[in-house]
Amino acid sequence: MSKIIKAFALLLTALAVTACGTDLNTAPPVYQTGFISMDTYISLTVYGENRESAAKSCQSEIERLEELLSATDSDSEVYKINSSEGMPVTVSDDTKAVISQALLTAEESGGALDITLRPVVKEWGFTTGEYKVPDSAVLEKLLEKADYKAVQLKENIVSLPKDFQIDLGAVAKGYAGDKAIEKLKERGITSALVNLGGNVQTLGAKPDGTSWNVAVKSPFDESCLCVLRVQNKAIVTSGNYERYFEDENGKRYHHIIDPADGFPADNGIVSATVIGDKGLTCDALSTAIFVMGSDKAEKLWREKGDFEMLLVTDDKKILVTEGILDSFSNSSNMEVTVIKK
Ligand code: AMP
Ligand code: MG
Repeated sequence: MSKIIKAFALLLTALAVTACGTDLNTAPPVYQTGFISMDTYISLTVYGENRESAAKSCQSEIERLEELLSATDSDSEVYKINSSEGMPVTVSDDTKAVISQALLTAEESGGALDITLRPVVKEWGFTTGEYKVPDSAVLEKLLEKADYKAVQLKENIVSLPKDFQIDLGAVAKGYAGDKAIEKLKERGITSALVNLGGNVQTLGAKPDGTSWNVAVKSPFDESCLCVLRVQNKAIVTSGNYERYFEDENGKRYHHIIDPADGFPADNGIVSATVIGDKGLTCDALSTAIFVMGSDKAEKLWREKGDFEMLLVTDDKKILVTEGILDSFSNSSNMEVTVIKK
């Protein structure tokens, strides 16, 4: 798919999310803008004085981070790491923060999140759009050069073994959301919503003091699955519908890879939404949880106790942790099971 068609498709997805319930109340003066960055459509809704300049600084910040964290841009720090041939590379505090969280979540998730899967993701064609189903033997070989434990991060120095490659696609948008919120706060903004192609981050409440209504998309069609009422939260979803291709028999291959075998994770979860204070941790967790499946995810939720989640299974059931229940409204006719402590 060409970049422009893809951008348009993403724009439609983003609009669908908005149309299915995310609040864009226009009564008080609001500044809204949208742009393409980080391979997705990003929209900003900012209230208050300085809204326009604050939104512009948000956009510059997100674009700056894209330049730093992109695996394909030859000027990025990730590109530098990937072409380091085993030599140490000094990185910025931003890259350090993203890699550091990714390694932490990798450890907590038993390796479900693994930023060294880039060669495998590439082999499937997810980096170029030239899709193919690779041979398992090829995947096995590529997995020999993939293991998050091989990434060394000491202060701002990253060392990656020769022939390894990292990809921060599972975490970069979450970090960009956090930094965007920081930029808004610096300019005195207390009410805003940042939507990075499905990673939604809210600052404060709506101008009337009520919570933001954030819609979560159904993984099965363009309808709205549910609405979450939140303030000051990140809501990040990983889904099998976000990037995928189908073979001649209609079998779907999506972009979230299980590091155990190099194939798209196939454990009955079709969408994993994580709700928490920080975009970066929610983004890392949503990808990890998608790979882990519901049993391991429940265990992690109990152990960590600092996030909530909403899982959708391929047999059309919704699992929701009890902490988010009061702010959850089901818009679908799917059965809901509450996960309790
Ligand atoms: P997300 O949409 O945040 O779940 O991130 C998915 C993206 O992260 C994919 O498009 C890949 O670039 C990359 N990725 C795929 N599988 C994994 C994994 N198990 N761990 C880390 N990154 C992954
Ligand atoms: Mg993620």
